[in-house]
Amino acid sequence: MKEKVYFIKMQDKEDDRSLCRKLKHALEKKDFFSFIGPKDLTAVKTHFGEEGSIGYVRPLYFSMMGELIKMKGAIPFLTETSTLYSGRRTNAADHMTLAYDHGFTFEETGLPIVMADGLIGDDEIDVEIPGKIYQKVKIAALLVKVQAVIMVSHLTGHLVAGFGGTLKNMGMGCASRRGKLAQHSTAKPSIRKNKCTGCGECLKWCPQNAISLVNKKAEIKNNLCIGCAECLAVCRFDAVGYNWSETYVNLQKKIVEHAWGMAAAKKGKIIYINFLNRVTKDCDCMGRSTVISPDLGILISYDPVAVDAASLDLVEQRAGKKLSQIAYDIPYRVQIDYAGEIGFGSPQYDLIELQIP
Ligand code: SF4
Ligand code: SF4
Repeated sequence: MKEKVYFIKMQDKEDDRSLCRKLKHALEKKDFFSFIGPKDLTAVKTHFGEEGSIGYVRPLYFSMMGELIKMKGAIPFLTETSTLYSGRRTNAADHMTLAYDHGFTFEETGLPIVMADGLIGDDEIDVEIPGKIYQKVKIAALLVKVQAVIMVSHLTGHLVAGFGGTLKNMGMGCASRRGKLAQHSTAKPSIRKNKCTGCGECLKWCPQNAISLVNKKAEIKNNLCIGCAECLAVCRFDAVGYNWSETYVNLQKKIVEHAWGMAAAKKGKIIYINFLNRVTKDCDCMGRSTVISPDLGILISYDPVAVDAASLDLVEQRAGKKLSQIAYDIPYRVQIDYAGEIGFGSPQYDLIELQIP
């Protein structure tokens, strides 16, 4: 069955204030937040951006959405989860400090930040799903407990998942640390000794201390490695190899099943909003990345698969190229296809462009 996806068009490099005005108009006119009731604790889940990231959705949109949620008599707040890897988002305290640095302060948004998985990412609840890989997945506890969720995602390429959008924001972004580990556990890197310069950068970023320098070359202890791909991301010398053919499909399927758990926990009380501006080659977890598409706009749907399918199609149509030609050359539609295959959401959609004065 085709699901509705609503499209708010923007000009390339259109000002955030102008786009925010359009989004507000659409949210009010179509009453997209009608599922939110009085006193509903309403989590607005997004990605605050790793240090140096340029793509994350800016605070002014959350200020506006927070006001609309409050008008429903509900209680909105911003939320996120800890990452697996090193950086400034590995625990709630560092993560919130980074969020404040990026402007997600109470003064800017009018919303408190309450982290969804506790101080160190271990606050979780098992959610049952009829998956092919999992019968239950570990979701950040707060996201299961609240009454309503607004899932705000920024579309990007991704070096393992193919692309990052709603499904990635839900599957990886709403999983607890153990849920994230479960998704990464099959991917294991290896070092190309002939390319390794012994610079030591990967040692600093490995969350497991699984890498050491032996004779000035990196060496990975497989029993410690969790397959997070952080070493691959930080190595500037192409010295980290990954067995992609065995990993990207598994990872993408696991992301989808975790996203299914998140959606199942909030049936009828969740909406998905994808931002297709500043679309970058890498996800917002990476400090820096390059823009790969002109700005396109915002997509809104009650179906997480349809909103991602429509987002990918719009980027490709605008570029006149496959995503694999402008981001990473790996199969990137596994998330969409697998979600359709297991009956979680609809890869088919009707795109409805909203006319905004
Ligand atoms: S970052 Fe790359 S080059 Fe540097 S030690 Fe690690 S594998 Fe070797
Ligand atoms: S060695 Fe393993 S755990 Fe360490 S950064 Fe690389 S993939 Fe992650």
